[in-house]
Amino acid sequence: MGMTKRIFRTMSLLISLTVLVFSVLWGLAFFRQFGAQVKDGLKTLRVSIIDQAGNVTFDNMAELDMLGNHLDRPEVADAIRNGTGESERFSDTLGETTHYYAVRMASGDIVRLALETDSVFTILYGFVPLLLVCLLLASGVSFFLARRLTKRIVAPINNIDLDAPELGNYDELLPLVKRIETQKRELSAQLGEIESRAATISAITGNMKEGLLLLDTNGKVLLANESVHNILAQDIAVGNDMITVYRDADFLAQAKRCLSGEKTEMVLCLNNRYYSVYFSPVFEKAQIGGAVILFIDITERYAAEAQRKEFSANVSHELKTPLTTIAALSEMIADGTAKDKDIRPFADKIKSQSSRLINIIDDIIKLSEFDEGGIPKEHTRFNLYDLAETVIGSLDEKAKERHVTVDLRGESQQYMVGNMRMIDELLFNLVDNAIKYNYEGGRVDVALSGNEGEIKLAVEDTGVGIPKEHLSHIFERFYRVDKSRSKKTGGTGLGLSIVKHIAEFHGGRVEVESTVGEGTAITITFQQQE
Ligand code: ADP
Repeated sequence: MGMTKRIFRTMSLLISLTVLVFSVLWGLAFFRQFGAQVKDGLKTLRVSIIDQAGNVTFDNMAELDMLGNHLDRPEVADAIRNGTGESERFSDTLGETTHYYAVRMASGDIVRLALETDSVFTILYGFVPLLLVCLLLASGVSFFLARRLTKRIVAPINNIDLDAPELGNYDELLPLVKRIETQKRELSAQLGEIESRAATISAITGNMKEGLLLLDTNGKVLLANESVHNILAQDIAVGNDMITVYRDADFLAQAKRCLSGEKTEMVLCLNNRYYSVYFSPVFEKAQIGGAVILFIDITERYAAEAQRKEFSANVSHELKTPLTTIAALSEMIADGTAKDKDIRPFADKIKSQSSRLINIIDDIIKLSEFDEGGIPKEHTRFNLYDLAETVIGSLDEKAKERHVTVDLRGESQQYMVGNMRMIDELLFNLVDNAIKYNYEGGRVDVALSGNEGEIKLAVEDTGVGIPKEHLSHIFERFYRVDKSRSKKTGGTGLGLSIVKHIAEFHGGRVEVESTVGEGTAITITFQQQE
């Protein structure tokens, strides 16, 4: 049976049943009550017999002497004339209306019946409690039935399984169920699409090296990728306020400016690393829909930039010192302030300062070549032992001056693959330093050894040594442990930087060991591809 029919049938049944219950109850009760009331009514019925002259000859309720002539009573007069008569009168004494009915008998006497209205209302009043009982019973029955029937109608609707709808007789629900079904299909399709999109986004952002933070218009986190967690070193939950993300007044102010539509950027230092932070507002149909905050690690660039700045400052300073000397001395010679005997020593000084300048500029050029990168790998196979021998030979004079003996140890057939000019320079700088920073009569040992594609080059001296706190800095540009000694010996402070660059250019590793007053050993290990 269809739902409409069912509801219709139930309603009709309910109404009919209620009416039936009410009528039966009311009928039964009415009969009982009415019967009782009629009995009571009879008891209060007043009967009088009046003769043709109008005298009352019988009265069941009043003293005959007290009653006057009744001919003037309309009902009596009518009965004498027509056989019957009736009337009603209001009695002031009793305060109620009395109904009279009179009949003329064959004898000519009149029988008159009198009943007080009060008793009619009393009958009706008597019904009120009954009526209430019937009403209560009928509404009780209909409430009970309505509840049961409603449950029975609704139960199949509640029990419909939307995954496998079986409507039974409820055909009316078919369009609704069908619509729910299509919507469910659409929803699950959309959900699938959203899930796959979310997976794609998290795959992309998860693999990003850059930190990515997405804020909504209220500054709440919509997305925070893996990198941003690491950069800020804390867990950022979706829905968190940006204040909890990074409590830095400047950062929060920039984020706020971004959320009001401004594109900004700043540099942040977090856990010893530098980040360029870019704030870009996201527009949705000309309205701000949120902000994208991107953290890009610029530590290397930042450090390189700082190093470059320091380097240029150092270069200017290093070049200025000899140039100032040259300028002052040549000026004295030019304007004649220099005495004749000074001219020669001045010229010598100018010469030494100029060669110092040239040395510095040469070294700077070499370093800037490394900085620019892209130096072609002009590698050849050459005899390292022979090269070392040549370099030591070129420093022989210097060594003799200082009474330093330089020894070369190793296999005379020690070959290596690399840029010969660069290795020459590397050897020269190391041996030169070992002689420069040595004691009178000291020793320098150059040792070569090689096996399984690994060549070791060690330059060991018995010199002044390097204090521990300077060890990590000696490869920095213009770094000198003892400035005056370095300058006196014509050092530029760039030698070891160049050594390190050359070693790295050849895939080599530099190690330094030193004891103050005892000596220094610098070892370079080259990995040979062949
Ligand atoms: P410099 O031109 O001053 O020699 P380098 O870059 O070659 O510059 O060396 C940097 C500094 O390291 C030197 O100033 C010196 O103080 C120290 N140094 C280098 N080699 C040695 C060594 N063999 N023994 C002691 N100190 C050394």
